[in-house]
Amino acid sequence: MKDKYNEFHEWYDEILEKADIIDKRYPVKGCLIWKPYGYKALKLTMNILKRLLEETGHEEVYFPTLIPEEIFALEKDFLEGFSGETFVIEGTLSKRLDRKLLLRPTSETVMYYMFKLWLKSYRDLPIKLYQHVNVFRYETKHTRAILRVREIASFIEAHTVHATKEDAEKQIREAIEIYKKFFDSLYIPYIILRTPKWDTFAGAEYNYDFFTVMPDGRAIELGSVINLGQKFAKAFDIKVQMADESFQYVWQTCYGVSERVIGVLLSIHGDNRGLIFPTNIAPIQIVIVPVIFKGKEEEILSKCRSIYEKLKSEGFRVHIDLTDRSVGDKYYYWEMKGVPLRIDIGPKEVKQEAVTVARRDTGEKILVKDEELVSKLKELMEDINRNLYERAKKWLNSNIHTLIDISDKSKIPEKGIVKVPWCGRDECGLELERRLGKEALGFNPEEKAHGKCPICGEKAETWLYLSKKY
Ligand SMILES: [Zn+2]
Repeated sequence: MKDKYNEFHEWYDEILEKADIIDKRYPVKGCLIWKPYGYKALKLTMNILKRLLEETGHEEVYFPTLIPEEIFALEKDFLEGFSGETFVIEGTLSKRLDRKLLLRPTSETVMYYMFKLWLKSYRDLPIKLYQHVNVFRYETKHTRAILRVREIASFIEAHTVHATKEDAEKQIREAIEIYKKFFDSLYIPYIILRTPKWDTFAGAEYNYDFFTVMPDGRAIELGSVINLGQKFAKAFDIKVQMADESFQYVWQTCYGVSERVIGVLLSIHGDNRGLIFPTNIAPIQIVIVPVIFKGKEEEILSKCRSIYEKLKSEGFRVHIDLTDRSVGDKYYYWEMKGVPLRIDIGPKEVKQEAVTVARRDTGEKILVKDEELVSKLKELMEDINRNLYERAKKWLNSNIHTLIDISDKSKIPEKGIVKVPWCGRDECGLELERRLGKEALGFNPEEKAHGKCPICGEKAETWLYLSKKY
């Protein structure tokens, strides 16, 4: 196994295939096969977000994959922003279509065409919908398994419509809270930044992005919360009649997260022995390994089976390894697959009416009495998740650097995120990107900076966060 921090990309590619998360041998660049083990983790992950959306009144819908070109072109900034990465269908193998159809790179235009037909009165609002679909983007940057793909297999996009600007802003705050809970429950630490104007989502007023830092020191976007204002409402002519009988354009927001989140999670929590799943999304939470001794086979296996049945009935995702591999090979294999807890049962455990429990995150082994097993496992699971989060948080914190003086090139950290005092002007932000050789991630409007903007020398209003980025 490669070293996660020094050879991250090699480590990442190797472990995803070895651990049966994906297979990337399919001959279309950026299109992956999700294997059962990986897909199960993906489903468990995305179900957390779906539950959070449902709990806050979002309803699941389905809209078509194909978009007529003339509808896609209605909002000009959006069209410009997505034109380079949107796939076009011009016909079948034997026939040319009379108009071009586009494969959704995201569903604003599909949904908003219908919103115009649906919405008549302010009483129809708000609407809060989401869909869980695949989307297609012709990524021009180097594709990277799960993190940057051309068929995004698992995209959860929410779209909301409101009668007033204030309601839309309130929705933005709710969406940020939903995403905080989602990433918290995956034990991924993050920072939330407002995207600078020159990088704002095409067709939006403004957006907030969640970022974390990968093991190679580059920042990655986890999710985006977008205030569309009335831009799409005007482009799609979506108006409602208000209480005072006037007709007004609606206010819209949207926010999306993709399977990228699981690529990030596996990268952040894994180590040089392989993956480490948090227990809530682990396809297998506990693996039981019989430690067979000659003459004791039957009692050991029978105890393994009874522990297996008990844990299964308690709702754990448990697996028993009855293959003929050696015990050492089994340990190595399940560690590599990231199973958070392993139970070893041999003659000693049978005799003592106990089992040995090994933690994947720390390697620690403890003997647990049979009657205490269920409560102890629950306790250990919480502890593993807490430990994963603390490790990840420490990593993120150690990768955010304050940079006051940019004149000395040797003092500019190559890895991680730098925050620089900034006057807030676009031209200074763009110049900072150029001089530091990093991309601007955004700023926190509530975080006041001290000192001066290093470009223009005027008083800094806030911090601009910059990093090399995925
Ligand atoms: Zn400036």
